[in-house]
Amino acid sequence: NGVCQVIADKCTECGQCVDVCPVSALELPKLPTATVVGEATKEDTTKMQPVDEPLETAIRLTGELANYQGVWVFIEQREGVVAPVSLELLGAGHQLAKKLDVELCGVLLGDRVSDSVNMLYEYGADKVYLVDHPVLHFYRTETYMKVFVELVKRYAPEIILMGATTTGRDLAGAVATDLATGLTADCTGLDIDGKQRIMLATRPAFGGNIMATILCKNHRPQMATVRPKVMKMMTPNPGRQGVLVTPEVTLQEDNLLTQVLEIVKEHGEQVNLQEAAIIVAGGRGLGDRAGFQKLCFGLAEAVGGQVGGSRAAVEAGWIEQKYQVGQTGVTVAPKIYFALGISGAIQHLVGIRGSDIIIAVNSDPDAPIFKECTYGVVGDIFTIVPKLIEQLKEKGG
Ligand code: FAD
Repeated sequence: NGVCQVIADKCTECGQCVDVCPVSALELPKLPTATVVGEATKEDTTKMQPVDEPLETAIRLTGELANYQGVWVFIEQREGVVAPVSLELLGAGHQLAKKLDVELCGVLLGDRVSDSVNMLYEYGADKVYLVDHPVLHFYRTETYMKVFVELVKRYAPEIILMGATTTGRDLAGAVATDLATGLTADCTGLDIDGKQRIMLATRPAFGGNIMATILCKNHRPQMATVRPKVMKMMTPNPGRQGVLVTPEVTLQEDNLLTQVLEIVKEHGEQVNLQEAAIIVAGGRGLGDRAGFQKLCFGLAEAVGGQVGGSRAAVEAGWIEQKYQVGQTGVTVAPKIYFALGISGAIQHLVGIRGSDIIIAVNSDPDAPIFKECTYGVVGDIFTIVPKLIEQLKEKGG
């Protein structure tokens, strides 16, 4: 499925690419034992085959692929409450469906969740597949996967989008594996190549150093997960109507391998950086825990914001991991994002690009954060931020 290919004509079978490939994605074919260095034998002509499917398979698939149509969004819900990421994905899916000139469909699985259907039309779904069944009350990989795969086999969508949440990641992986199709996780951009009718799924790769656009050429459906807050929700259109489909599926609790006995909710402070309107994030430039406490928490208190941190701040132990913003932390989209002493590494930037306003304070005028921010202050945080806090306090925040 991948875009990596060995160009058979140019390959000399030296094996160097196998050694240097950072993700161990390449292998040489087993050379015939008859091969003797310096003496050409018939078997020597064996070359490494391109990673792509053999030609006949590709041709067969081209015909089959045309049977797959429509863009689907998995509508994640918990206790009947639809996850905002699903509405964001309806927004992204709408763009894809428009380019492909196909329907946008929501797939809603759960128990007594039909109340949400109208909302899905209002957020862009043309059709909703609803499977409402007591066995689907709690998310379980086994049940959700079976139902989802069954629906895909029956209705054959060409694209499936899911939130890169705990549930979405789990379900997407299971469904893609069962259908033996391609899944691009944690996408930051989705588009359509109109000529080939293929989804272009873009995501950071190789530690965030490059943006890779990944294509699933020979299999359907094409699947992608996207983190919360990466895509924009559409403005709801009140009263918009769509088509409801309620497929029959056979589900029996007795046949399942897992049972949910109890849900124990986590106690302690709830962190919801993703919903915060203002975030004050601190990085290594704050020097130590005391600096982080004083300036980052101080400014957050003065502006009524939530505190966040770069990975460097988390690794230094100044703030817990759940507050980390970026590729391996959370993706945020506040109205205002303060970056204090944060250099703006790509892994941090991918988590903050949805912010309306980014205000950066950094002593290094060449810090990459200045290329991304809306307002940048070049200077020492220890001088600038206390003055800012003081002025905000004088003005009452
Ligand atoms: P630094 O890069 O060290 O920057 C500190 C900044 O503070 C500098 O720009 C400096 O000029 C400035 N400064 C210093 N003193 C002062 C002062 N007195 N006044 C003003 N400015 C000052 N990082 C994340 O943040 N989130 C992630 O999710 C994440 N995921 C990653 C995933 C992978 C696979 C990898 C490889 C890396 C990841 N990283 C992530 C790490 C990332 O590459 C950077 O190392 C990290 O973001 C750096 O944090 P920082 O900006 O706080 O520190």
